[in-house]
Amino acid sequence: MWVPEILEVEMYRRAAELVIGRRVRSFQTNDAIVVKDGLQIQSLVGSRVDVVSRLGKLMTIHFDDGSIDLHFGMAGRVIVDGRSPIDELVYGASSNDRWIRFQIDFEDGFLAITDPRRFSRVGMSRTTSGLGPDAFSHGLFDQVQPRLPSKGSIKGVLLNQNVVAGLGNMLVDEILSRSAIDPRRDISTLTGPRIRTIFKAIDEVLPELLERGGSHMGDLAAELRVPGSRCPYDGRELSRGTIAGRTTYWCPRHQK
Ligand SMILES: [Zn+2]
Repeated sequence: MWVPEILEVEMYRRAAELVIGRRVRSFQTNDAIVVKDGLQIQSLVGSRVDVVSRLGKLMTIHFDDGSIDLHFGMAGRVIVDGRSPIDELVYGASSNDRWIRFQIDFEDGFLAITDPRRFSRVGMSRTTSGLGPDAFSHGLFDQVQPRLPSKGSIKGVLLNQNVVAGLGNMLVDEILSRSAIDPRRDISTLTGPRIRTIFKAIDEVLPELLERGGSHMGDLAAELRVPGSRCPYDGRELSRGTIAGRTTYWCPRHQK
């Protein structure tokens, strides 16, 4: 199990596009921890799905009559017509059904969120003006530059969804490893060209890992995130520490 970051949510969004044009027959909104605005959501019964969009890690389903925001927390998964886009598991009459926290039933098929940990959140769309530009945006660096803070660890800056939307812990470690930057470095000590290197790495890493199957498929892959593992580029033992509140892996040889 890994935390959904921009790539996983993009896979969910693409899977959810299957329900575009379908009309809602009913909503299952009885998990009050995950689902806010249950009554308002119920008022969308009978409406049809127009568009499924994404900004960073936030997915929005737009109906002809209103929209619903879906946040996937630490472990949320989207299931469309019984299939998950990221694990090969086929859902149906299985034990995973007890993790369904929200479901939209259409005249034909369904879309559900499963989440064993219940950190996912579903509600009527809110204004998202606080979020930075989506990490997949073209010309990302130019959009982000005015939002960059003058101080703070570079890892914390990249995790801040109000600076750039969509990056999570594993992607940021991968991006900093590829840009050869120590995650502890304060942004105030990085020159303009080095900061640009990071944004070049973002442009490169996101499509590449989307193709490979998700944020756990980096060169600094999920299985290397254990004590004692070595840098995939130069073999040095990786350092491990808590930076910006998150468990971080980096290479003390090539990341400066
Ligand atoms: Zn290294």
